[in-house]
Amino acid sequence: MSRGLSLWLRPQPSRCRLSRGQLNSTIPGVRGVVSRACADAEALESHMDKPPQPRPSDGPAQPGDRPVGAVARRMLIIGLDGATFDVLDPLMAEGRMPRLQAAIASGVSGILRSTIPPITPAAWTTFLTGKQPGSHGIIDFERYDVHTNKLRFNSTRCLDHVRSLWQILGDAGLKVGSVNVPMTYPPVPVNGFLVSGFETPGPDCDFVYPPELKSEILERWPDPTLRAKWRRRTFGGNALFERNIAYISRSFHQGAEMTVWLGDRFGWDVLMVVFKLLDNLQHKTWRYLDPRWSDRHPARRDMAKRGFGEADKAIGVLLDYARANDATVLMVSDHGHGSLEGKVQPNLLLKQWGYLSLRGRGAQKATRGRHLWDRLRGRTKRFKRVGDIEHDLAVDFSKTRVCVMHAGMAGFLYINLEGRQPTGIVRQADYEALRDELRDRFLGQECHVRDPDGNGVQLFTEVHKPEELYGCSRKDQPWMPDLLLVPHESLAVVRKIRGRRAVRWLPYRRLEGTHRPDGILVASGPGVRQASPSPVENRCHSLRAHIVDCAPTILAGLGLRIPDDMEGRVIREIFERPPVVETEAAQVAAATSQGGEAYSEADLERVTQRLSDLGYLE
Ligand SMILES: [Zn+2]
Repeated sequence: MSRGLSLWLRPQPSRCRLSRGQLNSTIPGVRGVVSRACADAEALESHMDKPPQPRPSDGPAQPGDRPVGAVARRMLIIGLDGATFDVLDPLMAEGRMPRLQAAIASGVSGILRSTIPPITPAAWTTFLTGKQPGSHGIIDFERYDVHTNKLRFNSTRCLDHVRSLWQILGDAGLKVGSVNVPMTYPPVPVNGFLVSGFETPGPDCDFVYPPELKSEILERWPDPTLRAKWRRRTFGGNALFERNIAYISRSFHQGAEMTVWLGDRFGWDVLMVVFKLLDNLQHKTWRYLDPRWSDRHPARRDMAKRGFGEADKAIGVLLDYARANDATVLMVSDHGHGSLEGKVQPNLLLKQWGYLSLRGRGAQKATRGRHLWDRLRGRTKRFKRVGDIEHDLAVDFSKTRVCVMHAGMAGFLYINLEGRQPTGIVRQADYEALRDELRDRFLGQECHVRDPDGNGVQLFTEVHKPEELYGCSRKDQPWMPDLLLVPHESLAVVRKIRGRRAVRWLPYRRLEGTHRPDGILVASGPGVRQASPSPVENRCHSLRAHIVDCAPTILAGLGLRIPDDMEGRVIREIFERPPVVETEAAQVAAATSQGGEAYSEADLERVTQRLSDLGYLE
């Protein structure tokens, strides 16, 4: 399993790493060719009872008319949430994913590094903006408001200050289709269509653009938002396991069908779908996929592997569709995946070290009792009101200097600072010294433990100050933690405190999967270089890129200039003939939402429970 390269993602000295002024190039014979998908769609649109919203631009630009000269006419992007070659390579070697294997063999593949932390909303937002979390501000599903001591849930309403790839493409006259891409709820207008991602509370919400398309989608696909949880029952056995796999498999086929149907109907220059439940499949079946344990339960191992086979069939449908439309294909994952073997409790350490005080035993029991009661009634009240930050841990903030306020793939640590939090007790003058002291302690000998097999484990491998990691200031991003605690790769971080040990190792029956920084990148089709052939067993997946590189690569490949505030590079080595890279002054983002909260209290309950099921929220 791959291990993090902490220095790899240090902020670059200059925010933009694009070069200018290279030779212009266009695809021979492209100029003036009307795309078949667009032409078909326009014919279809003329026959529709309810035509979609008018496009903000005059119509799709022709590739030859694009400002820089395209090496790809159009692009179809398949998001494989959480995909890793650690899993895919053995499956391809067994012949279970022939379509993916053929795409890799005909093009190029490599490792796509995720954001720090490697969590779905942060990583897909980086994909969609070409910016690191220090610029877009999304570092987790939720955010802690230091001024009100309240947790809030992230949505597109938090992204008004950045232009997304969809907006940039639409403004250039290209037609965009986006299906189930995370962090697109509530939908904002695009030049094309959009079905929002798994953070959509349910089909009763407005999850489609243009909005009048919703009823037709629901007629064809009553469950378009993929909201079912992994079902558990004490005596569910293999039959229930198989039903869970079948639900996930259906989601892949549904994603592919919906993408093709909408693509045909509207036309497209850039079309993207994310198979979000591939991540769920790995979270829930990791112990049947990991070669260390997979032989213990061969029946479930085979069922889990069949789930990937179904994903491969859906990928095949999209590859065929791309070929029929002469589209270049990118397959990307937002992060990788690996084993989850324990949960580390930084708030317990902070309590033991004297930085954090809990309220009395009575208050602890009352808090836990209320939390349990809410859960039994199917509620969490996580974001309900000020003070519910204590939903699972009754902290005495009048005596607490430091606390991890939310956690999951990382710990988000905040200092209880005078003049900032309503309960602040740490003097501003002591802030920096306290941060340094905490960083040393979390990286020091006190956090070195033995796992159940007797191996030494450093609980936290990296501790970052956000301004050093992301190059942002608190003024720009008031949501950033004071320290970001990155756990050992096999551990998740929890906010609550249970027991007296800093890490709770999981028994075999509770082993699941968790995220790793290294995801995948595959490119194939027109304009893509073919890597030298190698057998799947020895495939080296030679590309090395970062998820922040995707947006500038897509723009350059399509012959568009790249806004100079994008932070990635063009992955030129994907292409047979490297695209011209030109930048332009970034436009100021125009607010696309109405601001305010995207979710009602009831919506938050639904989304919180879905995310709790995956261990993202406690
Ligand atoms: Zn993900």
